[in-house]
Amino acid sequence: MTDWPNGARGAVAFTFDFDAEEVWIGDDPDNANLPGLLSQGTYGAKVAVPLILELLARHGLRQTFFIPGRVAERHPHRVAEILAAGHEVAHHGYTHISPATLSPADEEAELVRALDVLRGLGADPVGYRSPSWEFSPETIGLLGKHGFAYSSNYMDDLHPYLHPGGELVELPIQWILDDAAHFWFSGSGMDWTRTISPPSHVHEIWSAELDGIVGLGGCCIITMHPQVIGRPHRLAFLDRFMTEVRARGDVWIATCAEIAAHAR
Ligand SMILES: [Zn+2]
Repeated sequence: MTDWPNGARGAVAFTFDFDAEEVWIGDDPDNANLPGLLSQGTYGAKVAVPLILELLARHGLRQTFFIPGRVAERHPHRVAEILAAGHEVAHHGYTHISPATLSPADEEAELVRALDVLRGLGADPVGYRSPSWEFSPETIGLLGKHGFAYSSNYMDDLHPYLHPGGELVELPIQWILDDAAHFWFSGSGMDWTRTISPPSHVHEIWSAELDGIVGLGGCCIITMHPQVIGRPHRLAFLDRFMTEVRARGDVWIATCAEIAAHAR
């Protein structure tokens, strides 16, 4: 069990991976020449992030946005708005390419480049979420070298824990608590096997999983993507879900940086 502030039984973070166009380009560089495909990511920057900021403000919540460096370069005004609203901005790669596929030199160059971009926009990133939730053999050492306080990438626990070496806190995630696993649909590659789920299914899963994690005294890190969760009917679901989570009265809703600092 983790001891949470104010007698809370568990912690919750609503996190947003602001991938925009880069998730498609990271998947296949040729996608950079497909404006129709990329417009799915543009929706996240153009429409969804403002709606999410409005929703968070209405709930009085400050939360965490993981942002690739290239997205911050393409949409600096959105990063400024996220920061101005008091949210945490954390590191999500420079490109949206898995560090597991990069050379050690390229991995460090990406890490540093995105840090420079985000700091240049006024952020102070202390957290890292890999674009693939995957690490190379170098990643943990690089996060330590560059002063990161936490990672949110592994699926091996329900509680925050310290990685070997004792400096880096892990805030565990899981596909179950990822909007993309339930809602993601892409016409590219003609992969029509993925269907679009109704939010009622996700509500059932997330509510029960959160209840279970809190019952075990853990932390429930929910991962969402503006281009996925930011459609009107899904935001209506998120609005209801946030209302329910806040009404419980037994969970500490905080940013990832706050949860990591407390766990340490
Ligand atoms: Zn991402």
